Amino acid sequence: MQCLLCRIPTEKYLYKNGYWIYRCPRCHLGETNLKKDYSQFVKEFYSQGYYEGDPTRSAYASYEADKPLIVRNMHKFLSVIRAKKSTGKLLDVGCAFGYFVELALSKGYDAYGFDASHFAAGEAGALVGKSRIKEGTVQSVSYPKNSFDIITLFDVFEHLQDPLADMKKLAGFLKKDGVILIATGDTRSIAAKVFQRRWTFYIPPQHIFFFHRKNVRELLKAAGLRPRSWFRVGKWLSLGYVLHLARTTGESPFARFLYQVIKDTPFARFPLYVPMKDNMVIEVSKM
Ligand SMILES: [Zn+2]
Repeated sequence: MQCLLCRIPTEKYLYKNGYWIYRCPRCHLGETNLKKDYSQFVKEFYSQGYYEGDPTRSAYASYEADKPLIVRNMHKFLSVIRAKKSTGKLLDVGCAFGYFVELALSKGYDAYGFDASHFAAGEAGALVGKSRIKEGTVQSVSYPKNSFDIITLFDVFEHLQDPLADMKKLAGFLKKDGVILIATGDTRSIAAKVFQRRWTFYIPPQHIFFFHRKNVRELLKAAGLRPRSWFRVGKWLSLGYVLHLARTTGESPFARFLYQVIKDTPFARFPLYVPMKDNMVIEVSKM
């Protein structure tokens, strides 16, 4: 394994879910050793169970049932976008079931999305229309050059195969004065430091890259992009989702028990505001 940015050998950092996360001794960029072909992995891993509480997936308890909370979190991002671009063509990378595309359409944007998951892309197509959704990875999809005003990556950056090559390609789809909004985890946040290996962002194999401000800035620069502003957000999550994360990535036996007790009850949908702020939201423009 070698660092995507520094091109020097990385070191074993943390072992979890049967995978090693390596870390660069210079810039501290973390990378999961996936041990298999990315496109094959994507096909197998982002199945229906990923969105519906598969205990081996450490992903969503129920993406569909949590839609109201997911959309509530998305409103914050939309307000940031509206302050920059009140109209235009928008591309949501890793659009899952298309909730952000739907929200953007309702506010008058000409919105599109793609997702690597066959299952999710199918759901998104059913929601907003097949002509707006593609199935594929950043490297496999294509759109006209300089055609989008806004490109968004919400909780997607850490799943990318090669964020440097992928951001270069996405930058090609973006108009000269376009805006990219990225939300990802921050390995130098307080939560990451406190929870260490139990930090919810450390979930190999789906999370492949682990950034902080300094190295993500370096990566963006190498892709011809420049961060314009940074902020952190708290998130609304359902109790079921929090317990699902705690039982999987948190490795908590108590959460495992409690999740089983409440998962089919209305308590599973109980909304919790989680002010962890272990993320970084980055507004990016072309250089
Ligand atoms: Zn490095």
